[in-house]
Order: sequence, then structure tokens, then C-alpha cells
Amino acid sequence: MSVRDVRVIPHWIDGAEYPSASGRTAPVFNPATGQVTAHVALADQAEIDAAIASARAGFETWSGYSIARRQAVVFAFRELLNARKRELAEIITSEHGKVVSDAMGEILRGQEVVELACGFPHLIKGAYSENVSTGIDVYSTKQPLGVVGIISPFNFPAMVPMWFFPIAIAAGNAVVLKPSEKDPSAALWLAALWKEAGLPDGVFTVLQGDKAAVDGLLESPVVESISFVGSTPIAEYIYETAAQHGKRVQALGGAKNHMLVLPDADLDLVADSAVNAGYGAAGERCMAISVVLAVEPVADELIGKITDRIARLRIGNGAAGLEPDGVEPDMGPLITGIHRSKVAEYVDIAEADGAEVVVDGRGFQVDGHQDGFFFGPTLLDRVPTTSRASTEEIFGPVLSVVRVASYDEGLELINSGRFGNGTAIFTNDGGAARRFQNEVHVGMIGINVPIPVPVAYHSFGGWKKSLFGDAKAYGVHGFDFFTREKAITSRWLDPASHGGINLGFPQNN
Ligand code: NAD
Repeated sequence: MSVRDVRVIPHWIDGAEYPSASGRTAPVFNPATGQVTAHVALADQAEIDAAIASARAGFETWSGYSIARRQAVVFAFRELLNARKRELAEIITSEHGKVVSDAMGEILRGQEVVELACGFPHLIKGAYSENVSTGIDVYSTKQPLGVVGIISPFNFPAMVPMWFFPIAIAAGNAVVLKPSEKDPSAALWLAALWKEAGLPDGVFTVLQGDKAAVDGLLESPVVESISFVGSTPIAEYIYETAAQHGKRVQALGGAKNHMLVLPDADLDLVADSAVNAGYGAAGERCMAISVVLAVEPVADELIGKITDRIARLRIGNGAAGLEPDGVEPDMGPLITGIHRSKVAEYVDIAEADGAEVVVDGRGFQVDGHQDGFFFGPTLLDRVPTTSRASTEEIFGPVLSVVRVASYDEGLELINSGRFGNGTAIFTNDGGAARRFQNEVHVGMIGINVPIPVPVAYHSFGGWKKSLFGDAKAYGVHGFDFFTREKAITSRWLDPASHGGINLGFPQNN
């Protein structure tokens, strides 16, 4: 099929779809069928410039709106999203492959941030100190930055942008979103929804593209900040390049998340949690559990329980109703054929390094979907801790069991890793859990909770190679990131008072 036969997914500039004239596109697949369903525009410099210029004009309008008017728009967006989220979920499934109920889950977690943003006046109000010195008051205000850039990964095409844009927009900024070229349609749907909610044109722009679009945002003097989520090497590049261009930057990177299982844990809860967190969204989550650190003697029993559960998993086309029996499967395909090969390579590496392949998902096929990018749930045992399968992010439905002798050995393995995104401990010992939360070098910790994604009014972010920059996503960090504070010191003379010449440094009295 040639590019001419399929739709070219456009940008969204000046409040409308904006067809690309760059002549460059990338294919977009339905991962369940392996078919190319569209091509997405890849911006050239003229389109990057048009997007940024429109956002700049949008900012001029929007930042002049009163808080009450801005709040009404954000609230309307929340209402529309809540009413129509099923449409968005189906779009996500058709380009990402995750099952529709899981796509609904990611939208709901994004919607939480929209709901937080509805209360933004409380979070951007400054502070006031009266009479700090005789006749002098000091107050601070929080002002928007201007045009802000968001660059998002393929695995959460709605939720990750929603970690940032509701807060950025509520605070008075104009957003240029560069979605992943693998699943670009969710961003366009969200842009049309903003328009319907009454957002002025130019305040939410979608710039489709690849590295050229990203570099255009990084290098533009008009773009004040960059919020990035993606793999660690690119996060590092974004952090350094944005900083070189004088921008505020937060860059969230990859992960390798461990679940530490103490011998006193409820092993049925552990097995359910490991399967849910290891195979949900086919493991394409930055908070997926990748390694189960089983403190002996529990490993054999736990592996038995996980294996039983894997046997009951249904893998298929995540679009509800498309399975022959109309029942939604538990797990869909991976994002691309290339990514599937990479995941298979990690299983090969583990095996070559001496791991036992307990359940093998390589070569897995779904009837009627032979061209889909499916990979079966895979369970590895006795994976050497030095194997690349133990240390690198796999981002697929591969769960590794590493047997350890003690809590201390497990903790040391977690803390020696490059990443520090999420982790979990499973135990009934409160003292051990408390020690763990204190001693582990990871940003988000679950205690008998496998995927500890914080609620919207806390903040999301890891440590070490999982986050570059000081600001996490959403919560109070989000409002701080998307605003700039001013402190004003004012004196209104009492009609009876007067000043006088004094060249000394101002002192309070
Ligand atoms: P990716 O790094 O390949 O792409 C992310 C974004 O960067 C995309 O918009 C892409 O177009 C752009 N990009 C890719 N290569 C680039 C380059 N050379 N120069 C400039 N821009 C470039 O990531 P992905 O495969 O889309 O997403 C999966 C990764 O994201 C995983 O590593 C996952 O752990 C990570 N992730 C992290 C979090 C988190 O919160 N820490 C959340 C979700 C995903």
C-alpha cells in the first residue's frame, strides 16, 4: 500500500487540522493486525515555525483571560472528556494495541490531573506578608511561562500528555505537544476537545513529527520549557540540549522495576500482582514490574502460582468486541514488529546467560491475527543478575524471577541499578516495609501495591536515570514547573511619613 492510499494524520495548528506539506511521513500500524492504517506527518522547519508562532499568539490571548474564564474552559474540557472518553479509548487501542478497558484506565488517570487543574486558582495564588518593614508589604505572584513544549512516548498517548497540559494550560501557558509518531491520533482528538471546550485557537497545538520536530522545539527561543517522557538515552539528550538552550526542563526516562517478595508475604496476592503488573499493557508501562526478587524459600511456590495464572490469560485484539466470542482479552500486542524482535532478543540473551525459560512467549501467534505484533507472556527463572535481561529495560511481557537469600541482598540489587522509577515490597511485616521505604533508592514505592502511580495531587517521578531535572510531573511540582514566581516589595507612603537619602543596603525596621 502506498502513502497515497491511506490518510495522512495532520498537525493541529491555529485551532484546526493543519495538513503537512513536508513530504515526510511515517507509517502508523494497527498492532493487532500488523496493517498500516495511516501515515503521520513529520514536520519540517516551516511547520515547526508555524506551530510555535500560533502558540505564541495563543499565549497572548489566553494569558489575558481572567482566572474565572480560564477555569470555566478547563472545567468544560473535563466534562467533555468524562462524557466521551470511550471514543478516545478506542482510538488508543487502534494505534497502541492495549485493550480498551486498559486505555480507559489511562484516560481516567489523566482525567485526575484535569480535575486537579480545575482547582488551579488555589495552587497558583501567591503569598502576602503585610508590614514586613515599617510601611512596606511583600507579595508574590505566579505567572505563566509562555509557550511550553511537551514531548510524549508511545505507551500512554493520552495519559502522559495529560500529566502536563491540564496544569500548563490552567496556569495560563500555551502548549505545543509533540506526540509519539507511533500513535499520534489521540493528541488530535484531545485538541478538538479543547476547541469544543472553548479554548482559544493556538493555546493547544499538536506538532506531529520525529527528531526534527523535537529539535525544533528544543532550539526555539520562543519555547520556554520542555516536559519530556520517553526512553533514558533520549531523556538525557533532551535534558542536556534544552538546558543548553536556556530552557526549564523535566525529562522522565526509562525504568527497570523490581518487586521484592519477603517470605511472609501472601503469595496469592503476590502472584496476582506480579501478573497484573508484569503483563498488563503487554509490559509496555514505565511502572511495569520486570523483576521479581523472591526471598527464599518462596520462589518455587510463587513460580507455580504465576505459571497457573499465565495459563489463564487471554491474548488477542484489544478492540472490544473483535474477538470471536466478543469478550475482551487481558492483553494485546506490542507496538511494532521491530519492538517485538527486541523483546525476543532479551529472552534469547537471558537464556544464553543461563536463565530457565519457564513460559516462552517467543513465536506466539493469535488465530486470525497472524500478522499482529503479539508476544506471549514470558516467565524466566534464575536470571543471572549480571545478564542484560536483568539490568536493562525490556518493555515487553517478560517477567524475570531472581532468587535471593535475604531482604538485604534484594535491596542491594535494587539500589545498584541505573534506574529508580518504581518498586514494590510484598510483606506482612510493617517494620520491614518501613525500612524498605526508607532505604530504597527509588522515587515511587508500593507496599503490597504493584504499580504505585501517585494520585494527581502528589507528583510522579523517579530517581537516577529515570528522571533528569528537579521537577516531577503533576501535583505541586507541576504548578511550580509551569509558573514563574515574582516577589514584589511595595511601599505606599502614609500621608504623614517621608523617606530620606540612605545609600546603605535596605534593612527592615
Ligand atoms: P522514545 O524515547 O523512543 O520516544 C519518546 C519521544 O521522543 C517520542 O515523541 C519520539 O518521537 C521522540 N524521539 C525519539 N527519538 C528521538 C531522538 N533521537 N531525538 C529526539 N527525539 C526523539 O520512547 P518510546 O519508545 O516512545 O517510549 C517508551 C519509553 O518511555 C520507555 O523507555 C519507558 O520506560 C519510557 N516511559 C517513561 C515514563 C516515566 O514516567 N518515566 C512513562 C512512560 C514511558
